[in-house]
Amino acid sequence: MEDLLRSLRNLGLGAPSPSQLLELLDTDEEVQKRLAQLLSLSSVLDGEGGEEGGAGGAAMMMGQDLLEEAVNALLDNFRKTLDRQREVSKKETTTKAPTKVKLAPRTALLARQDAALKRAEQQRQEAGRGYIPRLVVDGKASYHSKRPLASLKRISCGDLNLAPRRYEGAYLLCRVMTPLLLYVGVTFIVDDPSGAAIPVSISHFTSDINQSQSSVSKLLPLGTVLAIREPFVSLDHASRAGPCTGKAAMGIRVDSPTDIVIVEEEDRLLEGVEWKEDLPLSSCPPSTSTVWLRDGFLSRQLRQGFSPPAQPPSLSAIRETIEDFIAFGRPGAAYRELCAARRLALVGNESLKDVEARILYELRAWSGAKDAFASTSAQGSSEGGPDSLRKDTDFAVPISELSPVQAAKRTERRLASESAGLTDEEVASIYFASSGHSPNPRLDTSEYIGPVQVRDIPGAGRGLVTTREVQPGELLLCCRSYGSAYPSDPESLGSPILRLNVDNGVVSTTSQVRAQTNLIHALVDRPDMLAVPVLGLTAGPSMDYSRFVTEPYPLRARMELDPKKAVNEYKSLDVDAAYVDGVLRFNAFGPAQAPASSHSHKHVEESQGELGRSTQPHPLPAILNHACLPNVSSVFFSNIVTTRALDVLPEGTEIVHQYVRGETPFPIRTAQLSKHGFECACSLCILDRADGAEASGRRARITEGESRAVFERSRLLFKSVKLAEVGSTDASLAGEVKEAHEDVVEALKNLRERIDETYSASSKTFPKERAQLKPEVFSTLDRQTRHLALFSGDIDVVLDSAGDALRCVGAQVASQDGKGQILDKLPRLHFDPSIDLVLFVATFLQNRRLKELSLRWVQAAYHAHQAMVGGGQAVFLHRWKSDSVAPALELWLS
Ligand SMILES: [Zn+2]
Repeated sequence: MEDLLRSLRNLGLGAPSPSQLLELLDTDEEVQKRLAQLLSLSSVLDGEGGEEGGAGGAAMMMGQDLLEEAVNALLDNFRKTLDRQREVSKKETTTKAPTKVKLAPRTALLARQDAALKRAEQQRQEAGRGYIPRLVVDGKASYHSKRPLASLKRISCGDLNLAPRRYEGAYLLCRVMTPLLLYVGVTFIVDDPSGAAIPVSISHFTSDINQSQSSVSKLLPLGTVLAIREPFVSLDHASRAGPCTGKAAMGIRVDSPTDIVIVEEEDRLLEGVEWKEDLPLSSCPPSTSTVWLRDGFLSRQLRQGFSPPAQPPSLSAIRETIEDFIAFGRPGAAYRELCAARRLALVGNESLKDVEARILYELRAWSGAKDAFASTSAQGSSEGGPDSLRKDTDFAVPISELSPVQAAKRTERRLASESAGLTDEEVASIYFASSGHSPNPRLDTSEYIGPVQVRDIPGAGRGLVTTREVQPGELLLCCRSYGSAYPSDPESLGSPILRLNVDNGVVSTTSQVRAQTNLIHALVDRPDMLAVPVLGLTAGPSMDYSRFVTEPYPLRARMELDPKKAVNEYKSLDVDAAYVDGVLRFNAFGPAQAPASSHSHKHVEESQGELGRSTQPHPLPAILNHACLPNVSSVFFSNIVTTRALDVLPEGTEIVHQYVRGETPFPIRTAQLSKHGFECACSLCILDRADGAEASGRRARITEGESRAVFERSRLLFKSVKLAEVGSTDASLAGEVKEAHEDVVEALKNLRERIDETYSASSKTFPKERAQLKPEVFSTLDRQTRHLALFSGDIDVVLDSAGDALRCVGAQVASQDGKGQILDKLPRLHFDPSIDLVLFVATFLQNRRLKELSLRWVQAAYHAHQAMVGGGQAVFLHRWKSDSVAPALELWLS
């Protein structure tokens, strides 16, 4: 990748755009050709083009041809690199007779690493703050050790003489002898006691890939003694952690960072071990506190019975270690270290209360955190800002930035909303915080688990069912993700990650790779809290279930907070990185479709394509099964998802939400769902299947193909219409304009009839159900309603048309003469377009001076909004207020 970027730069071309990066990995020749064209063309447009454009056309064309040829050659070269990588990967899994390898001499390895570090530093400087994509590869085989170190026998580098091979039942004792080279994972050189050296690479070492070499090297300082459990010696060890260059080099490849055990000086493993060679001198300063994937010294000491150090650490040193853990997102280790320090009587029960409060807060132990904050503020140990929090930033401001009094207050609120759910005001806060200044804030809420429980669902694994009857709009879940990652996080900004699985062609992007790392590290930190919620999820049809899948699935992830048990019983988890990858692939939610972005800031994330997606692991919501016709609406607010009932759900009803949008045509939906390995049997799919493949295929072609042209005509006609005046005067359209509208209505009617024909089989078998559900017809009726409102004098015609449209997506529209709610049942598909239509009708009625009826339609839109999103008036207005519907909304507000 780096070579390709440099060569492009030398030709005066820029780096490929995010979507082009993905095309680089596409094996389709046509895609490659077009890519070469685009890459070479972009220079003409961006570069010399401009003012002199048009002059010397022929010469330019010549230049363009040559340029394209050159780019083609570069892409070809890049593809060859990938092909070589594919070959090596194949060799690793199929070779029966591994190659006998000779270890490279120590000095050669050291020189090589030194050069690589210098090169990386130089590249970093060259690119400045520019955009440097990083490419690594992945493959079918992935390893992780499940055996405890004590059960393994020690081997040395000299025993590692075959590659590729996994050395089962053995561990390699070795020492870090160079600084770490950070790319996506890390690569460095180790030596064993005999002085023999070998390169090692570790995947998922850190998710902060923008940190400097010296700060990453502090995580495993020079001289750190490691035991690598059941090492895998690869022909091409660095390809998963370091740049994909197509040049294979033998070394140890660690796929799951939990295979690395940091060995203490006091450990029996080191008895009688003598290191033959001295460590090379290096510029990397030795560091005393390392927090990488292990507990603090005191908690290790208590657990493993090491003899206490002659000089116990000072209070400030203990505080520093614990603060480091909190800063590294490791509240579990912070908690254990604090408990250990208290048990060893190095810290009094009343000191470090402020730190304790923050740890408990991070662990979502609100009531303990509240007490600790309260006692901190009583001691007056630290001063903070003003005590009144600004409401709109409440959920976006981290707890560490609040004064103890503020923090105690907030914790109290978290405690309250954990049992009562979010108020409208709180939903409005998270809504505005998620659409606010920071592109991807991590919002801080408590989790609310409503009247639901986990239950086995025949034929569908586990699912969530209601424990009592719930009403439309009732909040059932409010959950926060664990280990979420956004492409725009500072830890990776400017360095998008691409990981190509050379065996199956699947590409993982920045947020997937980083969320995987985050989760692995969180699992090591809080195994008792997260192992079942995360590893108890399925990792896709091709992966065997983890042992955690058989355990009862918890509604809430909780950590053991008994000070003694937490320290003594902590056991680091052996995490299978590939399983975590599967869990994310099949359970994490892709682009956060924040309700705030659905309107005004449309497609902010989509503009970056696949690479712009965030990865949000939400364990409990992931337990929900799918239905194309959902009975709840799940809405994302940054890292938070809320789930609300769309209908009356009797006790024992399974709640189901959409993995893919139900209004998508059946054949496309089925294809999108196929990766999950189940056949959807929701009521909509039953109907669609009854129509047969030919009819549903024809329907898809009509809605995805020919209807586009009609909709486009409709849109163009509406461009010149002032919506605020729709329907205000009877049939006032000029003759030919009116004709144009009538024409479109005729075309829409035609489309609708052709779509309707495709429902004929299901309409015979399920007449009642199909009459209520024709999602593909919605858009034609929606457009028709708008045209009719313009030129038809008859209000009932417009209302009937709107009513028909809403019925097609599962809503039930009450009769117009009643005084009650307009929507007896909420729409179950086309959520936002339905609300938009209801507001359009309200505006039309208002312009017709039918104020009372108009109010009822606005009320219906508000009711639907509240049931789906919540947040009250403020959010409703922010999402829907526009010039066109303003008159109706203003009337409603007054
Ligand atoms: Zn379905």
